[in-house]
Amino acid sequence: MTQTTPPPLYAAQEPVFPRKVSGTFRRLKWWIMLVTLGIYYLLPWIRWDRGPNLPDQAVLLDMAGRRFYFFWIEIWPHEFYFVAGLLVMAGLGLFLFTSALGRVWCGYTCPQTVWTDLFILVERWVEGDRNARVRLWKAKWDFHKWRLRLTKWAIWLGIAMATGGAWVFYFTDAPTLARDLLRFEAHPIAYGTIAVLTATTFVFGGFLREQVCIYMCPWPRIQAAMMDPDTITVAYRDWRGEPRGKHRKAVQAEDAAPLGDCIDCMACVNVCPMGIDIRDGQQMECITCALCIDACDDVMDKIGKPRGLIDYLALSDEPAERAGAAPKPVWKHILRPRTLFYTALWSLVGVGLIYALFMRSDIELAVSPLRNPTYVTLSDGSIRNIYDVRMRNKHAEARVFQLSVTGDTGVRLQLEGQADRRSILVPADQTFMQRVYVTAPRQDPAAKQVRSDIRIWIEDTATGTRASQATTFNGKAE
Ligand code: SF4
Ligand code: SF4
Repeated sequence: MTQTTPPPLYAAQEPVFPRKVSGTFRRLKWWIMLVTLGIYYLLPWIRWDRGPNLPDQAVLLDMAGRRFYFFWIEIWPHEFYFVAGLLVMAGLGLFLFTSALGRVWCGYTCPQTVWTDLFILVERWVEGDRNARVRLWKAKWDFHKWRLRLTKWAIWLGIAMATGGAWVFYFTDAPTLARDLLRFEAHPIAYGTIAVLTATTFVFGGFLREQVCIYMCPWPRIQAAMMDPDTITVAYRDWRGEPRGKHRKAVQAEDAAPLGDCIDCMACVNVCPMGIDIRDGQQMECITCALCIDACDDVMDKIGKPRGLIDYLALSDEPAERAGAAPKPVWKHILRPRTLFYTALWSLVGVGLIYALFMRSDIELAVSPLRNPTYVTLSDGSIRNIYDVRMRNKHAEARVFQLSVTGDTGVRLQLEGQADRRSILVPADQTFMQRVYVTAPRQDPAAKQVRSDIRIWIEDTATGTRASQATTFNGKAE
């Protein structure tokens, strides 16, 4: 009886040394890297004048003040649905792009891809292109190797620290924090956050690289649910490239079957940051960065063959292409029920958020009835209910709010501790809580019935803007 040895459960990482490549998609990736990194590093430094009492940082997540500032938009804690809505839109956008164009997020804009690309750029600059890096990897640790490695790690560390440093600037005034950090006067949480993000960027971008995409990120596993044969993705036209073979003219015998266009030069494999061979078919590891397209197009140009042996294509076009027919136009692949459904959902959420944004008021109130007891009978027989009114002044300056009550009845409103006044000064950009009494005279219908509908109002005396909330008045049932 023969015994078979089970395959090992652990496979050591095979280092990947992507070769330099140039072409349309490489240029596009450089531009996207420039824009995304530029936005990330520079955004906290943009100033935005909101008036004397508010921060002047354009994008600020003010945890202590419980506000999120985004240019002219200020989100209060009770408006967190805006953030939730934006996250839903981001998720739907990801579904839409994945279903239309495959893993474009992974290949072009995912932070892991962008920073890994940047780290590889540094590595190539310090240690050389693929062959030099492979040689250095195999070489013994002498002065030359230490010098190159330490130089590379030092630059990586600088980028990683800048990355962690930029992140904390989103949470407090950037120039003030930068000065405090340099003087070692910043809060320990700032140093701790920078240290953690520096370490993760250094390790993920420098050492783990494609391992993060393959083993740590869940997206490759769930993206298949959003893709179908009409999704445009990076693929190899094996019907054109196979049978592959090197030195075509030299090895092709007179009676041998004609070779395909692939000359098996391995250029597409050598430039792949994931270390895979796209000619093996669709693979979970492929982030559709399209660098293999650039590499192969370059080879096709050199050997005088048409470009596009590796290309963005829809797998549903394969039978037509094999038969020599023209593929469907790209727009027919992109505009299909699934993508239209995602677009409709995305637009619906977006329109809802824009509507909510422009309809919200600069003053708001929240009324909480105190129900213990539900009412109080005063010495003259009138019935009193008590409410806590929270007033929000979203203006950059203090405002006087006038309070009032309306209903079908003759109820009156009075501020606690201020018998003869019904207005209150609410500080700038703050919520102010005021307890109010609403009283119905003994003979008033509201005093006699179990429950009456009333509405409590606030009015900004400077602008006349009003806000209100409906509530109930409890009477003494007779
Ligand atoms: S196979 Fe091509 S598209 Fe896929 S990850 Fe590698 S280089 Fe990028
Ligand atoms: S780059 Fe093109 S020709 Fe070279 S091995 Fe890859 S598919 Fe074949």
